[in-house]
Amino acid sequence: MIDFLGKTIQCGCGKVHKIPAIEIVCGRKLGKLSDFFDDAIFVADQNTVLLAEIPTDDVFVFTGPERVMATMENVQRVVDFLKGKNYRQIVSIGSGSLTDIARYSAFLCKVDFSCFPTAPSVDAYTSSVAPLIVEGVKKTLDAKIPRKILIDTDVIVNSPIDLLRAGIGDISSKVTARLDWVMSNFLTGEQICDFVWDDIKDLLKLIMKDVRKILQRDESAVQNLMKAQLISGLNIAITGNSRPASGADHLISHVLEMYQECRGHLPLFHGLQVAMGTYISLKAYDALFQDLRFKKSQILLKDRKKLLVDFFGQQIANEFEKTYLNKKRVETINVDNIRRRLQELYLEYRPILESSLLEMGVRELFSRYDRDFVKSAIVVSTMIRNRYTILDLYDQLDILDDFCDWVTEQF
Ligand SMILES: [Zn+2]
Ligand SMILES: [Zn+2]
Repeated sequence: MIDFLGKTIQCGCGKVHKIPAIEIVCGRKLGKLSDFFDDAIFVADQNTVLLAEIPTDDVFVFTGPERVMATMENVQRVVDFLKGKNYRQIVSIGSGSLTDIARYSAFLCKVDFSCFPTAPSVDAYTSSVAPLIVEGVKKTLDAKIPRKILIDTDVIVNSPIDLLRAGIGDISSKVTARLDWVMSNFLTGEQICDFVWDDIKDLLKLIMKDVRKILQRDESAVQNLMKAQLISGLNIAITGNSRPASGADHLISHVLEMYQECRGHLPLFHGLQVAMGTYISLKAYDALFQDLRFKKSQILLKDRKKLLVDFFGQQIANEFEKTYLNKKRVETINVDNIRRRLQELYLEYRPILESSLLEMGVRELFSRYDRDFVKSAIVVSTMIRNRYTILDLYDQLDILDDFCDWVTEQF
């Protein structure tokens, strides 16, 4: 499925990349999972436990009516369950959250991790990190690369339609993430790698052209989406951070997710929120290339702080305020030069990126939110991580406020 697994590559970026040697097996009507994973404990929820033949003794099932969230409490439940038991590996049966829970549990228990993805909804499967909510804050923690990934085509093709939509959302963000990365490399000198773009760029185009087919459950289109998710996760492992997979698109989605999670509410699926973030980021690049002139007005630190407190409470607000104040600022900004640097990439992907987001129904997602809330979420998204994006450029140019007004009228 992926030909560079296990290879060592002397990369043009100056680094030597060791690609993890994950065993990826794809098939259908697979039978007993214990034939593929020996000495394993399976971690599932009430829905995913029905999707494969799992030994009834060696399984931990999250029960309860609600979707399982990737929180440290849920990791702790798995870890507690495993106390005094001796398994060689933890195998997740599920999509993003269950995979992240199992991956981090395996890391804490010092055992192997493998997975059985049930939807092509996220790039979490092959990645080395686990985004988890720790005391209300989403943190990206180092965790385990899977030893083996077993994919049942029938299962992923028949995954819930919102998980297919989410998969399109999450994969579309790789384009805006790349634009942000190239821009940051140009403006701040941040290190960049081309290998992790070259290995996915053609597949991204194919998927964005095939959105309708994916939503109609066309087998090869869904398989391509799954393959791209696996490569995207590998890119995170290769680079050692989520830069190739996440820019302003993900920072916005993190804010939307954290806002709900802080209140004990269930957020939308990750990739659905990412689709919204990607659309906003795309519109920011559109404005850059159309040379739209926004009104200059500075967002005062006290107003920012108030937003942070409203969103996440005092304690988390303090942490993010520090993050914001420590952010990289660029000394001189020449917008013409930025456009020149990004032009080829932007023009190549812009039309299919917008059409793929519209086809997966991004407008319907925005209709669920209040306009002022989305505006605030965009501003907050510039304060939660030290990662330079198009929105930081707008912030530094003092046009973020007017951009937010403009972009929220575009939905
Ligand atoms: Zn993602
Ligand atoms: Zn490289």
